[in-house]
Amino acid sequence: MSNQQVSVEQVGPVRRIWLDRSDARNAQSREMLDQLDAALDDVEQDPDTRVVVLAGKGEHFSAGHDLKQAQAERGDISVEGRWQYEERRYFEYCMRIWDFPKATISQVQGACVAGGFMLANMCDLVVASEDAFFSDPVSHAFGAVGTEVLIHPWVMGLRQAKELLFTGSRMSARRAYDIGMVNKVVSRPELEEAAMAMAQHVAKMPPFAMKLIKKSLNRAMEVQGLKSALSSHFDLHQLGHVTDEFRQTNSAGIAAGIKKVAAAGRAEAEGKIDG
Ligand code: ZN
Repeated sequence: MSNQQVSVEQVGPVRRIWLDRSDARNAQSREMLDQLDAALDDVEQDPDTRVVVLAGKGEHFSAGHDLKQAQAERGDISVEGRWQYEERRYFEYCMRIWDFPKATISQVQGACVAGGFMLANMCDLVVASEDAFFSDPVSHAFGAVGTEVLIHPWVMGLRQAKELLFTGSRMSARRAYDIGMVNKVVSRPELEEAAMAMAQHVAKMPPFAMKLIKKSLNRAMEVQGLKSALSSHFDLHQLGHVTDEFRQTNSAGIAAGIKKVAAAGRAEAEGKIDG
């Protein structure tokens, strides 16, 4: 039985990689993340592909990590085991996108929550539809220490990152555009075409120049300590998985936490950051 959770589409020099698990709001399972990483291997090795668009099938870009699978398969995992899983699939896979030698564009609609937020924001550019919303309620909902890659202050500024994380509220696409986290906002029906148009335009840049200018732009953040900060946060995030507070919140029902995270996609109750 096929368990394909990622699909690809080629349009000239652009490869659009789709998170293809819309029935689960593109929750990121082990299989999805491994397939995404393999799809990036293919792009890296293909000289004719110059730009990657990272997109999600269905109503939502991604509601985050697959917490049901995490609970079922890793509910009683050791500290060492969790570290190994999260370092590889969450941290290294994400940093691989940050360092990817070709341009990457995320195409975001609906929920872009927690692990979804993390993934979308590893890309170089972000195109969103008006219905897109960004949130990271994992600290609020069950006492986790953010997500594994705390890219937030680097892409949205410190105060915005604090508001997002301290309130667990969702930020509208318009607000995300106003603060510079998103490059372009279009209507939902225009999204696929707008992301592809931007990708085709970017793909005209000679590829070696792209590789080098991207490296230099990323270094502008790295000399300010981006990689050290992300790496240090990963350690604190791991500590956060074994605190009494986290355990108590879990014993109160991670299912409730999952519901809350899922609800952050829909519920007004979580609050909105519209500015
Ligand atoms: Zn974690």
